Amino acid sequence: MQITGAVLERCGAPAPFAASEPITIGPLELDPPGPGELLVRIEAAGVCHSDLSVVDGSRVRPVPMLLGHEAAGIVEEAGSGTGIAAGRRVVMTFLPRCGHCDACRTEGRLPCTVGSAANAAGTLVGGGIRLRRDGAAVNHHLGVSAFATHAVVAAASVVPVDDDVPPDIAALLGCAVLTGGGAVFNAGRPGPEDAVAVVGLGGVGMAALLVAIALGHKAIGVDAVPAKLELARELGAAAAYTPAGAADAELRTPVVIEAAGSARAFETACAVTAPGGTTVTVGLPHPDARASIAPLVLTAEARTVVGSYLGSAVPNRDIPRYVALWRSGRLPLDRLVSDRIALADLPAALDRLAAGTALRQLVTF
Ligand SMILES: [Zn+2]
Ligand SMILES: [Zn+2]
Repeated sequence: MQITGAVLERCGAPAPFAASEPITIGPLELDPPGPGELLVRIEAAGVCHSDLSVVDGSRVRPVPMLLGHEAAGIVEEAGSGTGIAAGRRVVMTFLPRCGHCDACRTEGRLPCTVGSAANAAGTLVGGGIRLRRDGAAVNHHLGVSAFATHAVVAAASVVPVDDDVPPDIAALLGCAVLTGGGAVFNAGRPGPEDAVAVVGLGGVGMAALLVAIALGHKAIGVDAVPAKLELARELGAAAAYTPAGAADAELRTPVVIEAAGSARAFETACAVTAPGGTTVTVGLPHPDARASIAPLVLTAEARTVVGSYLGSAVPNRDIPRYVALWRSGRLPLDRLVSDRIALADLPAALDRLAAGTALRQLVTF
């Protein structure tokens, strides 16, 4: 079938992308779903830092690539053996778990080896490519490629949700909430009385903050952008600081989540972790970035640093937890959405994300 999608032609174009135009929005051919795959009509797709990282070249992926990995949609056609019926709403998740490799036996601590290899190659988890343009293959982004009217994905890349979860909320569950929430739930594991600080209040960081608050923890936001500190307080944060303000206030909490993806944010996160505490890093800095911390404090203060990819998530275990918290009214995920945009506005949306002014911008179809 013919679809319309946003294809990245080259990595590392200079910002602003609305001017350098590394992305072409136009028609592509989408093959029908094979065994174990689904054709999904996309309803909403979030613009995430992991899209930006490919566009700006921080994370090089094979091009041309149809971007977008945080999305929700309706199954229009199911290949054999998926166990998911047409008509169901599904959350797309960007790291499929094959369920059979050694990493898949780690309860989310390690990303699936098979899924990671497929993501690096730009294929679906089964190895194939279903996207073509003028007869030439177009790579999939993280097994999803959701900046398009339709996508073919492996059933392992989705989690079905009930119809009462609207598409905007469902989309956020697949990356921002799975990653930020998992940093708290799976990696930080705060005790009942522990305060949680979050450094970097983008979509993932704000989701971590919301989940910490929903679980009853005292939560503190740290970000350089005053408007984000204001929003953090509105959402129920006990306090919110700039990095310099956190140092002045001598902030130290037992669990700290770094969600900014920069070496400086990692240093701030380490600096505000209390003795005996845990620093969780879920951001994805440039591979050449280097941070400076004094190893002595890790020893002397008996501290732990934990790396957590995708919030150490097992999507079909974790997404129902967040749906239940959202249904209870304790997880106001709609507050993460800063804009709803058309697909044609994607380059400008990436520029707003790079400028740090956007929270979650959703492409709606
Ligand atoms: Zn993402
Ligand atoms: Zn696996």
